[in-house]
Order: sequence, then C-alpha cells, then structure tokens
Amino acid sequence: MATGLVFHEIYMWHNTGNFAGPIPFGYPVQPYEHAENPETKRRFRNLLDASRLLKQLTPIEARPATDTEILRVHTRGHLEKIRSLKDQIGVDAGIFTPMGRGSFDIALLSAGGVVAAADAVLDGVVKNAYALVRPPGHHAMPDLAMGFCLFGNAAISGRHLLDVRKLERIAFVDWDVHHGNGTQAAFWEEPRALTISIHQDNCFPPNSGHLSENGMGKGEGFNINIPLPPGSGVGAYEATFDRVILPALGIYKPDMIIVPSGFDAGAHDPLGRQMMTSEGYRSLTRKLVSTAEALCGGRLVLCHEGGYNAPTVPFFGLAVIEELSGIRTGVVDPFLELMNGLGYQALQPHQDAVIRKAEELVRKLESKVRHV
Ligand SMILES: [Zn+2]
Repeated sequence: MATGLVFHEIYMWHNTGNFAGPIPFGYPVQPYEHAENPETKRRFRNLLDASRLLKQLTPIEARPATDTEILRVHTRGHLEKIRSLKDQIGVDAGIFTPMGRGSFDIALLSAGGVVAAADAVLDGVVKNAYALVRPPGHHAMPDLAMGFCLFGNAAISGRHLLDVRKLERIAFVDWDVHHGNGTQAAFWEEPRALTISIHQDNCFPPNSGHLSENGMGKGEGFNINIPLPPGSGVGAYEATFDRVILPALGIYKPDMIIVPSGFDAGAHDPLGRQMMTSEGYRSLTRKLVSTAEALCGGRLVLCHEGGYNAPTVPFFGLAVIEELSGIRTGVVDPFLELMNGLGYQALQPHQDAVIRKAEELVRKLESKVRHV
C-alpha cells in the first residue's frame, strides 16, 4: 500500500495579503508578504514532483467539511462569523488571521481534506497519509480564529474519528514550533484523545503551552506539553520523542496517530528559533512510523500546519514523505550541512531539565490510564 497525499491547487489561493511577515496594515512598516503565503506549500509539492516521489503517492481527493463536522469542534457563532466574512478582502477573522475572498470555502476544503486523509487511512486505501492543506488549523479555538487558522483541521478529523468512525482512542503529536492550543482546547476534557504538543517555550500564542496544562475533568492527564527552550536542535527533539512522546503513546495505545505537522521548528524559520533539520524530521517520522506499526496497524496521518522559510521547508517535507512511504529519492538536502554545523545540535542540560519534567507527565498519564 502506498502513502496518500491530499493536495489541491485551490489551497494555494487563500489570500493572506501583503503584510510584513505576521504584521498587518496600519503599522509603520513597508508592506512585504504575509508569512503564511502559498510559497512554502507550493514548493513542497513541487519538490515532490521534481523528485518523482509524487507519482508514487496515492492522491486522496479533498472535499469540503460539512457544517456538522465543523460544529463538532467549533461554536455555531464561530462558523457563522467566518461564513459572514466570505466576500471580504483583507479582514482579520480573529487574532492574526487574515482572510481573502474565497477563504471560507478554502478553509472548509482544508478541514475536509484532513478528514478525507484520516478516512483513507482507516479504510485501508493507503497505509498512511500527508494532508498538504492550507490554511492551517492548530491554533483555531472553538470560538476564535487565531494564528492564521480558521478551523481546527486536525481536531475536526479527530472528532470525526471518535464520533462517526467510532475509534476508541486517538492521539495527536503536534511538532509545529508553536503550541497546538486549538487542538488542546478541543479535547481539554476528553480522555479519548491524547493531545501532545512539542513546541518552543512561550512562542505563540503568548503564555500558552506550559507543562502545567494537563487537561481537566475526565481529560485530566491526557494533555502533555513539552515547551523546549529556544535554540533546541535535533538532539533535544529526539530525546523528547524517545523519553516522553513515544512512551506516552505506548501507554495510551491509540487507534490512530494524527500529527499537526509544522516545519517552523526548522533552522532558518522566520517565526521560530529552533534548529531542526531535514534529517531531524526524518528521524522523528521514522520513530512515529514504527510506533504506529507497533500500536495501531501503522495508522498515521500528518496534516500541514506552519513552516515559513520557502527554500528549506520542501526538503523537510520530502524527508518526511520519504520515511512515510519507504521510498528514497536520492535527493540531497543542500541546506543540511549548513544546519548541522550550527552548533548546539546535541541535547543541552537546560533542555534536558524540561524533558525530565515532562517525563513526570508520562507517569501521571500511566496512572490515569490504569484507572480509566
Ligand atoms: Zn507554527
């Protein structure tokens, strides 16, 4: 069985306007381009094509998410607000979330694309899948668009898996450099979803993603944040996976793993200060593929989130999809040597201290699972 890919050219037509990075009009700065523009994603898809990996993947048809699907995560008020803005140009739908004409329908297709990817994996049409969707979703709160995200794509697919497809347990491993606050909020009191986010400490949203945020009520213990210090490299990421994320997954035993996949933890990213490399992402993917094989028949769905450095992101994405598919293209990442040479790529003591605290959360999860 092949690896599935969700992509649609229409995703690239979501127009975020000519901001200066994340900074909107109205500030005294020369307009440039919005950080979340199509280029990183289009180049990712183009490198899949140029490397000849694209034609070895199984295309999965995206379809719009329905109101019912959106409302499993979002309030009616939020859905209707975003719908009411569909013909506006350059409006901010919430906090740092610009929309253009057509963005509402594109956002529905983005959320529906991740649902389609999850269905294709669950139905055995593909062995695993990457949903290269846009706009991203992991910051969208139940009642608020945030951080370039209109609807919680990953969370919506998760609710679909639990409520419609009747999976007993799902797990999220969010490796975007920013906190997966929207996914966390969507399952805050839900023990049927383990939400894990590895991110840069206090990057975005502000004051979000602390170790102390563990879920509430029946969901207490089923949310794990690992806020790594700025400057964390491949060593810190691999140690976090080996000591926190993979053990947590092993205890929880999900029926499917969903990865909100941002490549903004990459070295050179304008919106993050971590030092991940293509080989680092390859290594994390290899760990997740083997964990998914051991726990849930290999069922693994990645959905695209951030990643804003257009030259380097495609090589991160190619490495990930090579690992998912088991196909090596022979393409050499021209940035790898530069990133490996940055220094401090190995685990540092102050990063180890954070991971040690997160290991306590794995023990807490173990006691919770035993009592469910
Ligand atoms: Zn991000």
